[in-house]
Amino acid sequence: MANVVKGEQLYEGKAKKVYATNDPDLVIVDYKDDATAFNGEKKGTIVGKGVINNRMTNFMFKKLEAAGVPTHLVEELSDRETLVKKVSIVPLEVIIRNVAAGSFSKRMGVPEGKELLTPILEFSYKNDDLGDPFINDYYALALGLATKEELDTIAKYAFAVNSFMVDFFKGVGVDLIDFKIEFGKTSDGTIILADEISPDTCRFWDSKTHEKLDKDRFRRDMGGVEDAYQEMMKRVLGE
Ligand code: UDP
Repeated sequence: MANVVKGEQLYEGKAKKVYATNDPDLVIVDYKDDATAFNGEKKGTIVGKGVINNRMTNFMFKKLEAAGVPTHLVEELSDRETLVKKVSIVPLEVIIRNVAAGSFSKRMGVPEGKELLTPILEFSYKNDDLGDPFINDYYALALGLATKEELDTIAKYAFAVNSFMVDFFKGVGVDLIDFKIEFGKTSDGTIILADEISPDTCRFWDSKTHEKLDKDRFRRDMGGVEDAYQEMMKRVLGE
């Protein structure tokens, strides 16, 4: 990939920037230390987060590819930059829950930490103006956000990601409470895993102490945010 040239910035999101390259099918994502919560209402910086999220995402995406889930990963270019396949993002936040927490606990009146009898697959419509409202398959179909086949593929991959990650994180002493993933469509219509898998997008609790090792420390002003990200990096990548 030595001859890929970084081009103009295409997009700046809350946690990442995206750049064009000289190959129309490839883009470069550049992870920032900026952190937001509550639909952008709370803003801050988590020092070193961009490096950790870039490296952890790529580590997990490689493992998931090997487990049969196609991803957008092409090549890690630097601590913060990764070359990925260009996709159009399916406008769904795909959430899997193993244990009650966050908005589920609030909405359902179930205390945080209660184990669910089966994993839950849940969708939100990715739309900042609307605050990413909760939707179901029928909304997605009726609004043309995805086809039935695409939803089936997304559900199959999401549960495969969950099975793999629950076991992987158990092995490093972490309970995977819930997470959000996003999928993209390549120019030929193939659905692949995109975006990131990191302490920004997953709830990680230490298996023994139940200490939170994720973005909830930022959302809830708990302190020790950087240390939690570093601890996850150490457990996953051994450094
Ligand atoms: N999540 C995310 N981005 C969002 C909303 C949620 O990455 O915009 C992740 C969040 O970190 C958690 C899971 O999705 O791991 C479920 O989040 P929940 O619906 O409980 O929302 P929250 O309580 O974070 O608002």
